[in-house]
Parts: sequence; C-alpha cells; structure tokens
Amino acid sequence: MKALQYRTIGAAPEVVTVPDPEPGPGQVLLKVTAAGVCHSDIAVMSWPESEFPYELPLTLGHEGAGTVAALGDGVTEFAVGDDVAVYGPWGCGTCHPCAAGRENYCLRAAELGINPPGLGAPGAIAEYLIVDNPRHLEPLNGLDPVSTVPLTDAGLTPYHAIVRSLPKLVPGSTAVVIGAGGLGHVAIQLLRALTPARVIAVDLAEDKLDLARTVGAHETVTSDDKAADRIKALTDGRGATAVFDFVGAPPTTATAAAAVAMEGDVTIVGIGGGTVPVGFGALPFEVTVTAPYWGTRPELREVLDLARAGSVRVHVETFGMDEAPLAYERLHSGKINGRAVILPNG
Ligand code: NAD
Ligand code: ZN
Ligand code: ZN
Repeated sequence: MKALQYRTIGAAPEVVTVPDPEPGPGQVLLKVTAAGVCHSDIAVMSWPESEFPYELPLTLGHEGAGTVAALGDGVTEFAVGDDVAVYGPWGCGTCHPCAAGRENYCLRAAELGINPPGLGAPGAIAEYLIVDNPRHLEPLNGLDPVSTVPLTDAGLTPYHAIVRSLPKLVPGSTAVVIGAGGLGHVAIQLLRALTPARVIAVDLAEDKLDLARTVGAHETVTSDDKAADRIKALTDGRGATAVFDFVGAPPTTATAAAAVAMEGDVTIVGIGGGTVPVGFGALPFEVTVTAPYWGTRPELREVLDLARAGSVRVHVETFGMDEAPLAYERLHSGKINGRAVILPNG
C-alpha cells in the first residue's frame, strides 16, 4: 500500500510503498477514507535526531477516519464496512485516567511503548491503518468522513481546552482565540456553540481572520505587540475571561498574559515554545494557566455529536495521496485555510 512517511531527519515526508498491514488479535484494520494534516507534525519533523523520540521511518497522520476492512481475532464490537473515526491518544485502557476515558493522560503509555498513530505508531496517511483496540473507534453514524476527520484532533483538542473554562464563560464574558488555523477555526465554532461569550480571534494573516469571522468570531485583531491593548480596549479595560493560544510561541503567550482578565484562564495549546510566568504580581490576580494535551474519549463522542447537530463545520482542503507532501508544504508556508485532509484511497 501507499503511505506517507517521514524517513530521514530534516527531510520532507515521502509517499512510499510498504507492505499491506494485517490486523493481529484484538486489532482492527481500517481502509482509510480521510486523514487530517496537523501542524504538530511539522514540529515533529523539525526536531533534531538527538531529541527525536520515535523510530524512523514513521507513517504520518494522527487524525484518521476509515471503513472497517478486517477484524483481528476476538473483535466483535464492529463489522466489516462500518465507517468510523479514530480516537488518537491511545493509552493502556486500565490505569486510573484511562478508566475514566482520559487516555490522553495514560500513566503507563510510555512504559508500555504505546504511541498514537502517526506519532510513534504507523499513522493514518496510508491506504490502510491498524487500530490497536476497537475502543479507539467512534462510529461516524452518517457523518461525512472528510469534514469529520479533523474533529479527532483539531476539534477534540480545543473542545477539551474550552470545556475546562466553561464555568467562567458566562454572559458578558470574552474568549480570545489566538491562531485561527486548523484548531483555532474549530475553537471559535465550539465557543459559539457552547458559550454566550464574545469571541475575539487573533491571527497574523488576513485570510485567517476572514475565516475566523465567517465561522463566528465577533471581533478580529491582528497579531502584533499591540494585540493585547486592542483586546483590553474591546473589553472596556477588563481583559479577556479566557485566552486560548493555538500558536503558543513567545509573542503569543506574551499577548495571552497581557490580555487576560483577573480570575481568567490562559490555555496554551500551541507548541511553539512560549511560556507564561506565574507568580504574585506576574499576572492579574488569580489567573489560571494551563497547557493541556489532546482530549478524552468521551469528549470525542461529544464533539461528533456537536457536528451531527450542525454546530461545527470544519473548512477542509483535500489532497490525493500523491499530493500529501504538498499539503505539508502548504501548511508549513501558511497557505492552508482551515484543515488539509488527505484522501489516501480517493
Ligand atoms: P495551523 O497552522 O493550522 O494554524 C496556526 C494558525 O496560527 C495559523 O492561522 C497562523 O496564521 C497562526 N499564527 C502563526 N503565528 C501566529 C502569531 N504569531 N500570532 C497569531 N497567529 C499566528 O496549526 P494547527 O494544526 O491548528 O495547530 C496549532 C498549534 O496547536 C500547533 O502548535 C500544534 O502543534 C498545536 N497542537 C497542540 C495540541 C495539543 O494537544 N496541545 C494538539 C494539536 C495541535
Ligand atoms: Zn495534532
Ligand atoms: Zn492508561
């Protein structure tokens, strides 16, 4: 089968032919219908050899949807032909967080060598994908795989971040979304669906701010060293109740810290190396700062339910398997609006 692999440190990913995988006992083989392209992969491919945590070659793609093509011995939960989305942050399934569906915070994944598809295990940008356990599959039940597949990360990750702040996002509150890309443009829709907060989107690029307005941002602000002042001005000097930073680089974490209101939340989702110093006087009183990872299994179901209700619609740009390297190139140079989705069997 064809697969998009990162093969050499520092090189671009390549489409190669690899043996067709076969499901072992307890596993499920999916024929991949759609696979999303996340900016995290670009970070992964920028890591030096000394810090690279996975084995090469690595088949990319941690957002996957597919049709069940074969069942390993003992799998009875699904049937061949079922359309499913893949929950990506695989855990052991039995530790305390896993038992509560929070496999993104599995206590034993590292020790047991369990990795998400595309981030250690063979990923979804391939004609076929092995899923280690049927509990990682969510039935699509009629949802379109192409526009749904980004919800497994670009939807689930902002959902998990936003849910933590829901008690604060009451009428009269303000939520700021920094970075209106794959994750950010879904975050804006989730905030509009789940809260009465006024939503301010911040980005460098005018086309991203246009998309932000299209998907429901009330206000947009250009990202520069005056962005926090403009957010303050838009909130009568109070600042933002919650800031969700989907860039997480030093300039944006600085904006987040300068824009947040007393008792507000700063959530750093982007992995751009920025930090927010916490300590008396460093921030407005009682601000909470956190940096979460992905989301839980029950939350993925909730995000898919929101999509079924029509509350979120991912803007996708599709690519065939042979164009997959181009999708990464375009994402790297800021040319994707919304999410790039690869159709490995399209
Ligand atoms: P993306 O490339 O689709 O979107 C990034 C957006 O940020 C773009 O619209 C870009 O124009 C904008 N941007 C870049 N620099 C900016 C700046 N200085 N100020 C304002 N806007 C700026 O990326 P994505 O796939 O949505 O991922 C967003 C970030 O989230 C990445 O860092 C990714 O690695 C990270 N991520 C984290 C998790 C997690 O679990 N914590 C999960 C998925 C992705
Ligand atoms: Zn991701
Ligand atoms: Zn676990």
